[in-house]
This record gives sequence, structure tokens and C-alpha cells, in this order.
Amino acid sequence: MSLFVPMNLTCPNCAAVFTYEAVGSVNADRRPDLRTEILEDRFQTATCSECGHGFRLEPDFNYLDVGRHQWIAALPASQLRDHLDIVADTQAVFDLSYGAQAPAAAQSVGQDLQQRLVFGWPALREKLVLQDIGFDDTLWEVAKLDLLRRLPEAPMAEGVELRLMGAQADMLDLAWISASSETHLNDFQVERRLYDHIAADPAPWQAVQVLLASSPFVDIQKLFMGEGPP
Ligand SMILES: [Zn+2]
Repeated sequence: MSLFVPMNLTCPNCAAVFTYEAVGSVNADRRPDLRTEILEDRFQTATCSECGHGFRLEPDFNYLDVGRHQWIAALPASQLRDHLDIVADTQAVFDLSYGAQAPAAAQSVGQDLQQRLVFGWPALREKLVLQDIGFDDTLWEVAKLDLLRRLPEAPMAEGVELRLMGAQADMLDLAWISASSETHLNDFQVERRLYDHIAADPAPWQAVQVLLASSPFVDIQKLFMGEGPP
């Protein structure tokens, strides 16, 4: 089931304090409307009861979609630098829920779940889009690396991410996004064969594929962060 917990929020506009139902977990099989809200960038958007200002909570929940074989730990974009520690924590949560330490019935569900860890709304949304269009998310990250080699003007910076927004017949919609504010710095398209070419012959990329898929945090950002702070 999906779980919501009342939380006191302080409005960033007028400082009023009001109660909001913050999500603890999403079950997209039972609540497909919540998946839709994530895809439409409006899930967990609170409206201040005093001044009407709208603002979005950072993600901090587990997302389950058994039908689409997805289990995703979604955390605030600001926690990205702690990804090495968080990988261990989310692994423990998964193991208790659907992995080695779960009841047998849950384990049989867990066998079909792809386990992922994401930071920020744009990263979570991208995993749902990738599943929807049938892209392998590891190969998609490889495709990003291939693209970046040919994009000298790429606005690479900490907190700025390259995300797939959607797919059309022959084109993919991409955006450079500030992960915490969700501001789009640049929207552009690339030909879909960027991905298809790699998916058809991934062998030359095997080493980086192994790196990307070494933990549930399947994201090129970890390749640019090193080991993080000591
Ligand atoms: Zn307010």
C-alpha cells in the first residue's frame, strides 16, 4: 500500500506552518495516479494554507511497481554526495522487504523487481520514462556518456543533470536540469539511434556498464564524483 505521514511544513514564502501528507512509500500498482503525478512533475506539491504558495517536497520514499518490475528508493537531490552510504542503507531496506531477509512470498515478488536508487525528482521521473519506452537504464547511461563526448558545450556541473524527458518516433527529448530546483537549463533533442546503436552492440562499452551497474545507483553522476567526501 501507499503510505502517507502528516508532516509540518513551513511555507518558504510566508513562513506559515501547516500540515501536509508527506509520502513514505508509493505502491504504483494500487495507485497508478501517483505514478502519473510523478511523470507530470506535480507529485508532493504542497500549497500553503495561508498564502496559496505552491512548493514541492524533495522525494524521500520507496516506490514499488510490481507490474513494471520497479523498486526505487527515491531520495533528495541534496543527498547525492552520500550515495555510497545510502546504497548500503537502501540495500538493507530492500533485503527486509523483498530480498534475502523477507518472507518467502515477498521474496518471490522481489525476484522480478529491478532495484534502483535515485536522487531528486528528475532522476526518479527518468527511470519511469525509461521503463515506459522499453530502454535499459544502464545502456541509457552509456548512451549519455557517448553523447557527452560529442557535446563540448555541455553545462556539466554538480547538481546539473542530463535527463531523458520522453521519446518520439525517431527522436529523444532531453534536458539539462538543476536537480533540486527542477529548472530546465536547456531542452534539446537527439536521434533515437544514439541509444539503438549502443543497445544493438553494447560490447565495446562493457567496462563502463559494469561500473554503472555495480550498485542500485545506476547513474553516470557517480562516475564524476569520485568516492565523495572522506
Ligand atoms: Zn505561505
